[in-house]
Amino acid sequence: MAYDSDNIFAKILRSEIPAGTVFENDHVLAFRDIAPKAPVHLLIIPKGAYTDFADFSARASDAEIVAFNRAVGEIATRHKLDETGYRLIANIREDGCQEVPHYHVHLLGGENLGSPFKN
Ligand code: 5GP
Repeated sequence: MAYDSDNIFAKILRSEIPAGTVFENDHVLAFRDIAPKAPVHLLIIPKGAYTDFADFSARASDAEIVAFNRAVGEIATRHKLDETGYRLIANIREDGCQEVPHYHVHLLGGENLGSPFKN
C-alpha cells in the first residue's frame, strides 16, 4: 500500500491541524486520541512515512524502531500507567480495521480495561 501523505496523522505531523501533543522527539510524536476509549488514550506515531506495523517493521531504520519502542515505554511511565498496567493496540489494514493509514499504536489505560477476548 502506497503512503497517502494527505492522511490525518501526516497533517498533524506537518502541524496543519492541531493535536494534543504529549510527547515528541526526533523520531516519534504522541498525542491524545480525539475519541478516547479510556481515561488515557494516546496515539503514538513514528515521524517517518510508514503505513502500518508491517511497513514500519520492514523499512524503518534500527534507530527509528528503537526510538519508537522506547518512547512507548517512556510515555506509559510518564502517565504513571506502568504502575497498574495498560494496553497497546496496533490495528493493521482491512482485517485489523485500521482507519488512519499512518502507523500508530494506541496506548490505553487509567482504569481496568477488561479482557479484549471476552464478550
Ligand atoms: P485506527 O482505527 O486507525 O487504529 O485508529 C485511528 C484513531 O485515530 C481513532 O481512534 C480515532 O479516534 C483517531 N483520530 C481520527 N482522527 C483524529 C484526529 O483528527 N485527531 C486525533 N487526535 N485523533 C484522531
